[in-house]
Amino acid sequence: MLITELKAKETIQALAVGKVFILNCHGCKEIHFPEAEADALQKELAATGNVTGILTTDYICNPENLKLRLDMHKDAIEQADTILVFSCGVGVQTVSEYLDGKRVCACCDTYALPGYQGVTPLEYDCDQCGQCYLNLTGGICPITACSKSLVNGQCGGAKNGRCEVDPDMECGWERIQRRLAQVGRLDVLKCPVQLRDYATDEKVKK
Ligand code: SF4
Ligand code: SF4
Repeated sequence: MLITELKAKETIQALAVGKVFILNCHGCKEIHFPEAEADALQKELAATGNVTGILTTDYICNPENLKLRLDMHKDAIEQADTILVFSCGVGVQTVSEYLDGKRVCACCDTYALPGYQGVTPLEYDCDQCGQCYLNLTGGICPITACSKSLVNGQCGGAKNGRCEVDPDMECGWERIQRRLAQVGRLDVLKCPVQLRDYATDEKVKK
């Protein structure tokens, strides 16, 4: 299973650009979702008058379920410049794929616990790295979409868009660049590299 933990408050406030729609997933709350902290922070964001809607639902990692829920909030989502997602990495990736023209942001980091994650882990994978990169990669996980789990860009070995390690798959970093271009966020590739901290695994064990 997994643990989701809120990113720093300042980080989430900085992600809340323009009008914002908030999506909470409580599908795995029996394990750990920071419900009280998320609620308090979302109330602060709503007080700014920039929140077009808040949807709390479960198992957003199920694309069919997600589409039904989001379609009921179509107008509020259309008005929003940014979709803030409070869920594990699988949930954020599912939303990002469905709303591929929107700026979709991860507000949580996902840590590993032994066991099962989400209902559709085969299509959108999260390796529970504990320092979610999705805000730097257009909602596509570089840990699982790239054969080398590179977090700082393409290795240079892709041929015709296919991965040099596994030609059966598309190069994850080509997908990331395409998605960032689609949402007008290629600028994030100029950000300093967020080094991967392998000590996050130890954090969960303590
Ligand atoms: S970057 Fe990937 S592995 Fe890490 S938490 Fe986000 S989705 Fe999961
Ligand atoms: S070709 Fe692309 S997906 Fe494959 S290892 Fe290199 S950067 Fe990663």
